[in-house]
Amino acid sequence: AGGRMPTLKARHLHAHYNGFTALDGVDLDIPPGTITAIIGPNGAGKSTLFHCLAGTHHPTSGQVLYDGQDITHRAPHTRTRLGIARTFQQLAVFPTLTVAENVRVGAEQGRVTDPAAAEQALRLLGLEGLRTHPAANLPTGTLRRVELARALAGSPRVLLLDEPAAGLDSTEVTALTRVLKALAADGTALLVVEHDLDLVAGLADVVHVMTAGRIVASGPPDRVLDTLGPQEAV
Ligand code: ADP
Ligand code: MG
Repeated sequence: AGGRMPTLKARHLHAHYNGFTALDGVDLDIPPGTITAIIGPNGAGKSTLFHCLAGTHHPTSGQVLYDGQDITHRAPHTRTRLGIARTFQQLAVFPTLTVAENVRVGAEQGRVTDPAAAEQALRLLGLEGLRTHPAANLPTGTLRRVELARALAGSPRVLLLDEPAAGLDSTEVTALTRVLKALAADGTALLVVEHDLDLVAGLADVVHVMTAGRIVASGPPDRVLDTLGPQEAV
């Protein structure tokens, strides 16, 4: 923590695939010290929004702002360097590298290169005992922890997570929830795109419901999740 923490913002984002409208004017703030969740049915545009924020999809119009700076056309690795880290829905660890080496890659790509931060990330995710273990052949839950540690090793200000609980059992989900809440308490801005409404209810400070490329409801989970119609329920 420490220092002024920036906010990541989407302003009037529109995105298209060959004329199909995937984002139809999305405004979103991802403030520091907060867990923001995006929910909504398949095809709502959640992943497209995520990709626009991470730099892996270019919106047709609108802006992505970070700390007041227009980063709409910045490359993904530039955003990582600025302090916007992400994980991948399809796990993206390097199988032939060890757990510690995978985490060190994250430190080198991040906002600051600090071996102490990489070490802290390993410990936060309970991976100390697996330092020298090759990432190949680790179970999904462990790989998700490696991936999260890799994202955290560069001391990000913003952490973007697409379905972080996919493939985790309930014990692992509880542990993940604890880690993400600790990061928010430390000032990190978190965005979680998630199918699992029980996870969102226990995790998020603010929930945004997306349908057909728009945010149609926003608020604390106890208020928003109770009002979901069958169309919005995932
Ligand atoms: P979600 O993550 O909420 O399921 P997506 O952002 O993945 O939604 O998709 C939004 C819409 O855009 C869907 O109708 C999907 O079929 C379409 N879409 C997503 N990616 C592509 C693509 N690469 N090419 C064409 N259409 C796409
Ligand atoms: Mg998706």
